[in-house]
Amino acid sequence: MPAWERNLARLRTAARVVDSRWGAPARAGGRTAARTALRRWRGSLRLRVVTITMLCSAMVAAGFGLVVYQSITTGLVEAKRTSALNQMEAGRTRAQQQLSALSAPNDPDLKENLLNLISVLSNATGRPGSYEVVLDSSDQEIAIDPVSRNDAAPRYIPGELRRLVAGSKVNGYQFTRADPDGLGMRPYLAVGTPVELDWGSFELYYLFPLDEEVAAAALVRNTVLITGVALVMLLALIGWLVTNLVVSPVRMAARTAQRLSAGLLHERMTVRGQDELATLAASFNQMAGNLQQQIVQLEELSRLQRRFTSDVSHELRTPLTTVRMAADMLHTAREEFEPHVARSTELLQDELDRFENLLTDLLEISRFDAGFAHLESEAVDVVSVARRAVESLRSVARRQSVRVLLRAPADPVIAEVDPRRVERILRNLVGNAIEYSEGQPVTVTVAADASAVAIAVRDRGIGLRPGEEKLVFNRFWRADPSRARQTGGTGLGLSISMEDTRLHGGWLEASGSPGRGSQFRLTLPVPAGGRLDSSPLRLSPDPDDAAAGPGTCEEEITPSGDWQPVGGWDAAVARDG
Ligand code: ADP
Repeated sequence: MPAWERNLARLRTAARVVDSRWGAPARAGGRTAARTALRRWRGSLRLRVVTITMLCSAMVAAGFGLVVYQSITTGLVEAKRTSALNQMEAGRTRAQQQLSALSAPNDPDLKENLLNLISVLSNATGRPGSYEVVLDSSDQEIAIDPVSRNDAAPRYIPGELRRLVAGSKVNGYQFTRADPDGLGMRPYLAVGTPVELDWGSFELYYLFPLDEEVAAAALVRNTVLITGVALVMLLALIGWLVTNLVVSPVRMAARTAQRLSAGLLHERMTVRGQDELATLAASFNQMAGNLQQQIVQLEELSRLQRRFTSDVSHELRTPLTTVRMAADMLHTAREEFEPHVARSTELLQDELDRFENLLTDLLEISRFDAGFAHLESEAVDVVSVARRAVESLRSVARRQSVRVLLRAPADPVIAEVDPRRVERILRNLVGNAIEYSEGQPVTVTVAADASAVAIAVRDRGIGLRPGEEKLVFNRFWRADPSRARQTGGTGLGLSISMEDTRLHGGWLEASGSPGRGSQFRLTLPVPAGGRLDSSPLRLSPDPDDAAAGPGTCEEEITPSGDWQPVGGWDAAVARDG
């Protein structure tokens, strides 16, 4: 590889290192800053108004200032030019008068006359030294050096001006930079005119310093700048104050609305004056008042309804017990009845079971509503709880020929939960899964991490239609109320499960797709009262998305209630071995 290619490769590597070291972080920082600025911009009306006011007023002030500055400086320069040309004209007349007195280029008094003329012209304004006068001659006959009070001055007469005046014999002027007095280079106005005599010709030049004009222009520029900045600031301040006037009540309304939605129903806005903002505040308060009235009414209604449910459930318990005793007696003696009467006693028994379940669920819901439900947490092995829940449903599973598999870590999964409530949740989830699985296997998966434990119940049955993932948790909601129920469900099971989950500070979520089954995932914090950030198991509508991690074993419940390993899983194989 030639040396230049090696160097190029080294250079590229260095560029990559520099980019990864500083370039990438700088870009990331830039992006973060841009995002923050954009968020601020979108989030603050006041910022937008003030920025837009500042930008617009800065543009107007800059344009206006530029026009003012241009016209003033142009006026200053024009005045200077006119006065310079006038002075030059007077000087030329004077020079012509004085030099006409001489007769020939070789007059012995020429030198003295020229010096005298320069002195007169330099003092013409009564301010000697405030400008320079140079007398020169391009006439071959008059071979003199440029005459001036200041030896340095002739050097600064621009060549172009000289050519114009000496060559074309016309008046001329030119802006230039010069330093005839050794005070530093600065702007000058050079003017020149030919002085024609009978016996020869001269050129008269003036160099006028533009110090005063420059100072005046600087003063104008600074004044325009300061005035412009002050104007922009003032307009920004006015924008801020005006926006404040409008935004403050809106902010107050937003804050009040937030507090209202947080349950502080007595919160109201302050009404000041009679303007539009006062009308807004009054309307807002009226709306809040109406809302409060309706909420109070609804709360009262809901309280009455809960009370009614609770009372009715309680009141029904006693007669139900009596009816149940009578029905049990009839059921026991059913052999002695006619077949159709015996069948009726069985039906009566089934319906009483259903009725009793409904009453139990209603009473449970009433307890949640009344705030009487509380947790009895203890450290338990969640896998054992899941196992118990599945075992209690094995006869239902057998009746419906549904296999129930359990995938769980080989080691116990300890969490601080209320085992009775968790078992009830799982019984409900597994019972539903068996019921809606259409004969397909049901899988219960347990997984845990340091902060959470999750149990997912998946079936491959009828599934859920879009939107039903939330509806299933509503009280008495059923996808198909006319569906023949095998287990005598009340439509309250998932609502109770949800309440139990909430008591734990956990999550109960559903997912599914029609015809492909559903998944219900329960996630609970490992320490009682812990906070959940994520779940150790994925919630997915896809029935094939049920991968178990390493160290997981898969078991299946047998009709006799024993657990047998299902092949394939490492721990199960180990156990088999
Ligand atoms: P119940 O099972 O007594 O009807 P739930 O509250 O347990 O009451 O369930 C409410 C409804 O949610 C059920 O009627 C059913 O329509 C739907 N559902 C529950 N679990 C499943 C499931 N695994 N697959 C499909 N639909 C389900």
